[in-house]
Amino acid sequence: MELLACKARDGNLELAALIDPGVPRRIVGDVTRLRQVLMNLLSNALKFTHEGEVTVRIEAEPCGEGGLHEIRIAVRDTGIGIPAERLGRLFKAFSQVDSSTTRRYGGSGLGLAISKRLVELMGGTMAVESEVGRGSTFSFSFQTRAGTEAAEPELQRILAGKHVLIVDDNETNRFVLTRQASNWGLDPRTVATPAQALTRIEAKEHFDVAILDLCMPEVDGIELARQIRKTRPGRRLPMILLSSVGAEETRGLAEGDAPALFGAILTKPAHPDRLRAALAQLLGGDASVGRERAESKPIDSSLGQRLPMRILLAEDNHINQKVALKMLERMGYIADVAPPTARRRSWP
Ligand code: ADP
Repeated sequence: MELLACKARDGNLELAALIDPGVPRRIVGDVTRLRQVLMNLLSNALKFTHEGEVTVRIEAEPCGEGGLHEIRIAVRDTGIGIPAERLGRLFKAFSQVDSSTTRRYGGSGLGLAISKRLVELMGGTMAVESEVGRGSTFSFSFQTRAGTEAAEPELQRILAGKHVLIVDDNETNRFVLTRQASNWGLDPRTVATPAQALTRIEAKEHFDVAILDLCMPEVDGIELARQIRKTRPGRRLPMILLSSVGAEETRGLAEGDAPALFGAILTKPAHPDRLRAALAQLLGGDASVGRERAESKPIDSSLGQRLPMRILLAEDNHINQKVALKMLERMGYIADVAPPTARRRSWP
């Protein structure tokens, strides 16, 4: 989702993910292939949608011993849709809805065929529902085992029962944020406009923390934050700003008073782990709580001796070649490179 945030922003589309509480945080599977399928469905959804939003919904249900789960992932868009008579051919290789699609949108007509095949190799199925002019939903499901994870009692304790004010004009975002907040044990109080937020603050409703969307019509998130500060000069309400990458308003965020107003500024779609960590931090917890610690381990230079291997590096980009060779060298490997000189391949 983070990789596609820019594309969504350029197309003026909302991009949101809703992950149900029952979905395991870790699953056992092929991350690269799963990502490939998701990226294909999401890029199609963004490509064929000119107005509205693209949402991903993930649900899971236990379906057997040993943490076995049925995972269902649906990518929904409000785009151009696909005529009913074309749905059957959609997953065939080199198939596009009509030949003008290629001219207008480009593409090979291979993505869906490959995605469907990958999902089937995972033992799953893929399906599509669509209505011309209203949008499409591509969904797939497969069974997999949940990975083990450590409990996070500290984080739960910090967030439990805290009142969070959520202000966002977009209905889907409101829904996603509210659901996430409740799943984390917070008590969400969600409003659609800055005016409603101010009314509730002026009425002395108690809030522990606030999440404000940046781009809202009339009053934006920064202006709302200024007004909240004015309304509650004594008691500081910690605030988080959600901004979109590349938004007009985002430029110059660092120079204005935003850094002083907000305890955290996150770009949408905000990674749930990051949002939760920011909330925990502002609610008095440790900044590192909930964030996966990305301590980098030193490179093991004796790896080449302990696990001798002949390595062929296939990479046509010169810089990437250099970086990869350097990294391998630090692990004690000397790799062969193909192709030795950068040569471009052209795809159909
Ligand atoms: P490509 O996008 O590379 O042409 P795909 O196999 O991913 O290949 O898609 C095949 C065709 O299916 C597209 O060209 C388009 O006509 C149609 N399509 C796929 N996803 C969508 C979508 N979300 N909305 C409308 N049409 C779609």
